[in-house]
Amino acid sequence: MMQQELDAFVLSEGIAIGKPFFLEEESEIKLNSSKFDSSKELTKFKRAINKSKKQIIDLKKHLSDDDLHITFEILDTHLELLNDPTLLDAVEEKIVNENKGIESSFNEIIEEYKNKIKDPFFKERIKDIVDVFKRISSHIRVIKVEDFYKDEKSIIFLSSEIIPSDIYDVKENVKAFISLNGSFASHAAILARSRGVPFISKVDVKKLKSKNLNQIIVDGINGKIIINPTQNTLDKYLILKEKKKEEKINFNIKKNDLTKFFINITSAAEAKKALEDKISGIGLFRSEFLILENSGIPPSNKQYLIYKKIAKELKDKPFIIRLFDLGADKNFLNNEEVDFFSKRGAKFLIKNPKILKNQLIAILKSSVYKNIKILIPFVTSTYEIKYILKLIEDIKEDFKKKNIEYSDIQIGCMIETPAAAIECKEILKLVDFISIGTNDLSRYTLADNSLKFDEIPSALFKLIESVVKVAKRSRKDLYICGELASIPKFIEQFKELKIENFSINISSISQIDF
Ligand code: PEP
Ligand code: MG
Repeated sequence: MMQQELDAFVLSEGIAIGKPFFLEEESEIKLNSSKFDSSKELTKFKRAINKSKKQIIDLKKHLSDDDLHITFEILDTHLELLNDPTLLDAVEEKIVNENKGIESSFNEIIEEYKNKIKDPFFKERIKDIVDVFKRISSHIRVIKVEDFYKDEKSIIFLSSEIIPSDIYDVKENVKAFISLNGSFASHAAILARSRGVPFISKVDVKKLKSKNLNQIIVDGINGKIIINPTQNTLDKYLILKEKKKEEKINFNIKKNDLTKFFINITSAAEAKKALEDKISGIGLFRSEFLILENSGIPPSNKQYLIYKKIAKELKDKPFIIRLFDLGADKNFLNNEEVDFFSKRGAKFLIKNPKILKNQLIAILKSSVYKNIKILIPFVTSTYEIKYILKLIEDIKEDFKKKNIEYSDIQIGCMIETPAAAIECKEILKLVDFISIGTNDLSRYTLADNSLKFDEIPSALFKLIESVVKVAKRSRKDLYICGELASIPKFIEQFKELKIENFSINISSISQIDF
């Protein structure tokens, strides 16, 4: 097939060249290929079942006393189905006797059930089976890559939807992501940028699948993809790729400038970046990503070890841990029917006090290192802050009784909802610092999820300006984070507002010559 160019939308910059790998449709491809191996497919299925069971058992352990009865019931039903021999045999039979791939077997079984079952009660049960199949499928994806592409040095992942866990699980040989859907401030895009992996969207992935593709160039600089490139094009891109590595954008930060740059991290491994001289500390640890890394909420003691290790490594540099921010596109506990308006951040934590308490205990124990601060996510009212502050005081009281050591710790609040921005003056009376989260503040103020603009829209800028004014008057610390705070030209604009503390993405550090 001849070289062809298609336009795309850049979510994470960079250039990559590699072999295409269609995430969700891969088992169908293998189904029609002569290389399809049913014993491999069966092994993958069994491994995915075991991983799904382990995930549910882990989840249940951490949810048991919480107010999550519905989730609990669903998890029990899933576990039951994962042990149901009739269902498992039906899948195995399709794989072994009919030489079908796992996902096609799932689809066929669902269709068969739908046609066969008329009883409304059992019809409801089909929904559970669909859910369980989804859960199993989520554990197959990574195995697919290992099984089929472990010898491939350079892969480009394609899928209509790329979710954070696709990027989180990324292996060395995955060089870029292409999707149909996706916005600049989605967490998949944020992760891709923090990992330095190019990611582009608005590409008709299904249509691409029907073409005969051997190689793809992802041009995440000019916003295009080139399929089946000629040798000439390849040479041109190899040179461009090398050139890009050298480039830096000069931020022009003057000496004696009060501006400080902190970093955003999603894992303990990334914390090392904060040790660089020019970085003042960790301005945002998106701790919810620990849940992805551990396939469930790590127990309090494990969290303690993680926080303690980072705090110790950082010495005097601040380490701001944001409490789990779960919900919207960070539905890491796989709760039912989560959307951009479900209970999220502080509200979710208050609804799930055991999760909140376990995390606070872990953080307070590590507070002896004195550089840790707590940041409350996605706040919409002072009630949420008061509730969490009270819980912190209760835990401290308990520590005193039990002679557990802790230090005083600063508590901050994310200003990332219009409600929090409006309530900022009252919020500042309760907390030690605030951090403006430009991603969610943009999304919910502008009612727009695309979040890529050449200029900060006036309404958003005015809202940020008003928060800064109130914070300056209160003399409390103010940070700014989110994607806008990592873009050089907007940093200049925020500096004019006299914002001094920027928490930026790791991938932006290399663009800053300071
Ligand atoms: C934000 O909303 O700007 C922010 C930093 O939080 P999140 O993790 O939701 O991107
Ligand atoms: Mg946010």
